[in-house]
Amino acid sequence: MRIDLHAHSNVSDGTQVPADVMESAAAAGLDVIALTDHDSTAGWAEAAVAARKTGVALVPGMEISCRTAEGISVHLLSYLHDPAHPGLLEEITKSKDARHTRAQRMVTLLSEDYPLTWDDVIHHVAPGATLGRPHIADALVAAGVVEDRAEAFGSILTARSRYWVQHYAPEPALAVELVRAAGGVPVFAHPVASARGRIVGEETYREMIDAGLAGLEIYHRDNPEEGRRFLRRIAERYGLLVTGSSDYHGAGKPNLLGENLTSAEVFARIEEQGTGSSVVR
Ligand code: AMP
Ligand code: ZN
Ligand code: FE
Ligand code: FE
Repeated sequence: MRIDLHAHSNVSDGTQVPADVMESAAAAGLDVIALTDHDSTAGWAEAAVAARKTGVALVPGMEISCRTAEGISVHLLSYLHDPAHPGLLEEITKSKDARHTRAQRMVTLLSEDYPLTWDDVIHHVAPGATLGRPHIADALVAAGVVEDRAEAFGSILTARSRYWVQHYAPEPALAVELVRAAGGVPVFAHPVASARGRIVGEETYREMIDAGLAGLEIYHRDNPEEGRRFLRRIAERYGLLVTGSSDYHGAGKPNLLGENLTSAEVFARIEEQGTGSSVVR
């Protein structure tokens, strides 16, 4: 079984519509894929139709942007939650709205130095999609300022750049709690992705575990080897599930579907624990 539990569509910052992500999953020889758009479940319905057509099983999911009190970014994957759970829905709506204001502020700052307007950015965002820096990057590519998203993230769009603006995001333990309350299965995404910015210490893991964390996404290209050793220790000590996934973004990132996989045993445990929605087969 080839199981990839982390992929994005243009419902957030991937470049393909959900149905095309499912087609690509079939072409990559996957048996199971999770659609985990940032702070949105708007792609589930279209992906579900495509799941039945392609024969690739769909795990409805989401990736929630969180931030610790010290300001460290944490991404939390949720699988099989109830998309209508009021508490969780309220948090992601707050984040989505804040992302909008934040992107506008970033564009205002960027427009002082680069040929960039708000319309240029919106041109790259599907209606209703969760706005992120990748969309600003796309507009900068179109304006000829950078070659691709990677170059934008390596320069003007990093969290250390003077154009970077913060947006509201829930604390990781709160997000874990809400995912469980919504019947979902919370997994810490790329926990030691140090190239993206600061990473959290063991205390944050303990808080998330106390709140109900189910697993760690250890096999992800952004987790360096020494960090993976640390994660294996944490997973063993606290009895956490271990997942692997691609974090596919279509043409938006080099990550390829199926480049990391999750075992059938772990997938079965996730399916058992998830009670808010169902795997679509
Ligand atoms: P934001 O949520 O707006 O802060 O933007 C973060 C998003 O940008 C994440 O979903 C990443 O997948 C994406 N991202 C981060 N680094 C890169 C990169 N080098 N190339 C393309 N996308 C990236
Ligand atoms: Zn993304
Ligand atoms: Fe992420
Ligand atoms: Fe992701």
